[in-house]
Amino acid sequence: MEPSYRIAEVYLFDTCTHRCGYCWLAESGQVLDAQQLKPFRDLAFISTVTGFFNSRTTSDQKWLLQFTGGEPLLTPNLGALCRGLFERGNRVAFYTALLLPESHAGYRFLLEHSAPDVDYIMASLHPEAELDESTYFRKIAQLKARGHNVIVRYVGHPARLGAMEAIDARCRDLDVCFYPTTLLSNTHPGDYSAAERTSLSSRFTSLSQHIQLAGGLRTEALTCHAGSRVIAVNLQTGNITPCITVDRPTLGNVFANTLQLHDGPGPCPVSDVACVCDIHYQQSIVVGVDDSSAFTVQKRGYVDTRTGPTLPPEVASMSFRQGAKIGIGNVQDATRLFFTKEEVKQRWESRQERRIDSLGRWHVAAALRTGEVAVDVQLKDSRPLQYIELFLNEASDGSTSGTWSCLYSRPHEGSELDLKVEKRITPRGPGQYRLALNVRFTDGTTCYWYSQPPHILRLES
Ligand code: SF4
Ligand code: SF4
Repeated sequence: MEPSYRIAEVYLFDTCTHRCGYCWLAESGQVLDAQQLKPFRDLAFISTVTGFFNSRTTSDQKWLLQFTGGEPLLTPNLGALCRGLFERGNRVAFYTALLLPESHAGYRFLLEHSAPDVDYIMASLHPEAELDESTYFRKIAQLKARGHNVIVRYVGHPARLGAMEAIDARCRDLDVCFYPTTLLSNTHPGDYSAAERTSLSSRFTSLSQHIQLAGGLRTEALTCHAGSRVIAVNLQTGNITPCITVDRPTLGNVFANTLQLHDGPGPCPVSDVACVCDIHYQQSIVVGVDDSSAFTVQKRGYVDTRTGPTLPPEVASMSFRQGAKIGIGNVQDATRLFFTKEEVKQRWESRQERRIDSLGRWHVAAALRTGEVAVDVQLKDSRPLQYIELFLNEASDGSTSGTWSCLYSRPHEGSELDLKVEKRITPRGPGQYRLALNVRFTDGTTCYWYSQPPHILRLES
């Protein structure tokens, strides 16, 4: 019997080779944060991730990890990560923009591994890649020839709608699916004109695309399999939530090796958001909306838009969350499709305080000694310090879902810190407990715990 595949929507890092004008990672400069790649250079980190999934894999229940970011092909040790997962029959998929040299290790990995191990490649054609469209389509042709299920994704910014016909024709020639999607931003889809809506939707080939254009389903009345058949994993923090759209509850943590799956479908845990991610319809996660057969056809090759669906009455009558603030960016200037290198760099530098490298060379360790927690924090060559805070979370699964208690809170000066804190804590059982370190600098900015890798206190039985 064919195994079934549980989905893991895996957010790797913000780092990216693009500077799209409709993406907050480019707007904020986060695409330049190469520090976020660092953990993946360590093979012990890679084996923690593969071990987490492989130890939860059986002969009839496996994982499909859908890698997204940022640009997932930038992942150091991508081959070791994926091959480690393939060993137990798990699969991967990529949400990539393919803006890398063909000699890049990530791209070469795709040339060497295709379906079924790599279930599909969702290859976005973004505005910068359009400057050299022939290179982009040469890669698409190569990947198709190597046996990949490739889909050409195209964000339907109003200024790009006129180019769809030509791109559709190139996809038809290569027998790959052309997949235009709705611009999800602080203004769109609400601000599309009627003519723009018609232009975009006339090239849709699945229900998921229509649901996105309608603003995504309101979650108040939705029941879904998130947390049981799909999870979302953030590999910067290790945190696991039911799906990529909701930030709670925490189901576990990869680095603490904890995961508590739901038994079956349940109500959406967050009201008043849009269930707008197409994966949730393509993978039949939301009860009552199954777009899986259309997705299977899209993965296979070109789909003629003349056979494309409209919203069936039972879905059209559901409640949509049309409007603003549901997307991935602000689209600050709708006339510009991508930012210059200088603009992105400037924004990146103006947000320096949030980055881990503002701490300089750092070391954080914690242990329990005769009922007292002992925390050791060392900073060298940090930005000038003003104030240090340390907290401990009471949740024993390595998550941040419990109450925080303060271990330390005092001013400090200089660019170096050698801090040893010992504090009696209430007795607690074995588990993994998250520590939070907040560092305020003399200019009033702060590097908060959530911008840092997780610091963990481990208690054995
Ligand atoms: S939309 Fe995607 S490719 Fe473009 S900058 Fe954002 S993460 Fe990178
Ligand atoms: S209803 Fe949608 S947004 Fe809510 S948990 Fe389910 S899949 Fe996620």
